[in-house]
Amino acid sequence: MSIIVQKFGGTSVATTEKILSAARKAIKAQQDGHQVVMVVSAMGKNTDTLVSLAHELMDRPPAREMDMLLSTGEQVSVALTAMAIVSLGHKAVSLTGAQIGIRTNNAFGKARIISISTDRMQKLLDDGNIVIAAGFQGIDEDFNITTLGRGGSDTTAVSLAAVLGANCEIYTDVDGVYTADPRVVKTARKVSHTSYDEMLELASLGAGVMHSRSIEFAKKFNVPVHVRNSQVDNEGTLISTVTEDPSRGVSGAAITLDEARITLTGVPNKPGSSNAIFSSIAQANITVDMIVQDAGADGLSNISFTVPSSDLAPTLEAVQPIGEQLDIQSISHRDNVSKISVVGIGMAQQSGVSDRMFRALAENDINIHMITTSQIKISVLVDRDQAMNAIYAVHNTFELDRTNPEAVPAESQQAKADVDPAAAANELQGLEELSITDVSLDTTQATISIQGVADTPGIAATIFEKVAQENIVVDMIIQSYLDQTDIASLSFTVDRQDVERTLAAINAMKNDVPFQHVASNPAVAKLSVSGIGLRSHTGVAIRMFESLAEAGLNIEMINTSEVRVNVVVDDSQGADGLKALNKAFADVMPSAG
Ligand code: ASP
Ligand code: MG
Repeated sequence: MSIIVQKFGGTSVATTEKILSAARKAIKAQQDGHQVVMVVSAMGKNTDTLVSLAHELMDRPPAREMDMLLSTGEQVSVALTAMAIVSLGHKAVSLTGAQIGIRTNNAFGKARIISISTDRMQKLLDDGNIVIAAGFQGIDEDFNITTLGRGGSDTTAVSLAAVLGANCEIYTDVDGVYTADPRVVKTARKVSHTSYDEMLELASLGAGVMHSRSIEFAKKFNVPVHVRNSQVDNEGTLISTVTEDPSRGVSGAAITLDEARITLTGVPNKPGSSNAIFSSIAQANITVDMIVQDAGADGLSNISFTVPSSDLAPTLEAVQPIGEQLDIQSISHRDNVSKISVVGIGMAQQSGVSDRMFRALAENDINIHMITTSQIKISVLVDRDQAMNAIYAVHNTFELDRTNPEAVPAESQQAKADVDPAAAANELQGLEELSITDVSLDTTQATISIQGVADTPGIAATIFEKVAQENIVVDMIIQSYLDQTDIASLSFTVDRQDVERTLAAINAMKNDVPFQHVASNPAVAKLSVSGIGLRSHTGVAIRMFESLAEAGLNIEMINTSEVRVNVVVDDSQGADGLKALNKAFADVMPSAG
């Protein structure tokens, strides 16, 4: 018999009335012939209330006791949900994380799932019960209660679906996944389908429909996830390997309002510099978001990166001593910037997406401070007071508010090879371990860098429009900008065969786009590490920098995304780099054969 896991978030179980309506959905699914496991969160804002109670007593409550406390929220809602089902004349049993056998490590407050036993749940289901599982919690080796981190019930739901070989439904207070956060962009539209990768990029961008870790999990075990509204009976959004309309370059846009940017200028361009900087930030437990490094002049490079505004002070504290150690020229920062990103798996197959985005911003007189791109995402940093204009400009230009009547239905897109999720999950130890799917070396690329570009709206648009007109496909783009000088530098990679044409096109633009000079490295090597969990396992970029530094490699360009970290090194160092990375990630890669 097929199993459905239905997860109800805090707002969907905020009152006994809402609990009853959740119960009715589960009963309906059972009557339709499924076995049903419900996963519920704490009622309403209960978890927040518990957090405040703890803080009335002390600033830093012991992590173990915090988990003991927070797990009670879910224990209340599972019991009430079971009662609701029984009151409607059906059989139900509630279970805590420990009773199910959700084993985690002992990282209180952010525990990771190691294994889940299905025996007890399966027996209760076979006896005709609806099983109600407490979200967000587990138990460690020593029987301590642990929690998975705020919002963790999504991860519970998807992981239960993975081990049970079930479909997963996430009931929430919105209709599904939108082209942008509908609370921010009034014209945002619900999409019928979206892919794991797009969700991963969006989840971390603050679109926040689901916990990122749960999507990583779903992707790893190929669990289809249906996000839907708990109050209305609409079709929601199906998250799987396919997207609504792959012919579109862009399927969603997101805004992260409170970003701060830090720029280190005059960093010695030698092995180990990036590693020194980013490991000290990682040690302070700060997650760096956009990272841009470009090779500047005279053996010195500039590195810019962003962190959430709230982490600015500790980040500066962490980088200052390293700056002195490395004898860099200066550290500057800005705390009034926001990040706008567009995402789409269709982007990888077409050109002309980035220049459209840059043009839309230019037309609205919005200046871009920083650009990073990945295969399926383009992010730009803009002044915070222009961020709202920027997200609308981008959403409009890609017509995200409209469906495409000619779109190929998602169902008929070629799906990836099916894995048996249950078998895969049961085989694995450490369900939530980082998994690197691929370490690769690309030796087809060259870099072009334009130094001393005036930092005004429209420059990036003009340059990339021109390059696109020449039918030159641009891969990585990074732009960084120096506060003191009001000039920016723009670097990107193109196919080696296109170097001369690109240089010619750029030199021909000298009158429209004043710049100081353009240079190329006609043969570079791009090293990439791809995988699942790159975001939630923050050490990936660090591990990469560390191993490249040890191997004596000098990094010329860096950019990062949720599913891949890319660095560009000189061609002569590509093979050594590949070897170093394969070694560094050997323990988290599928063994060959
Ligand atoms: N109740 C927990 C929280 O509020 C877990 C969840 O809702 O997913 O973070
Ligand atoms: Mg919640």
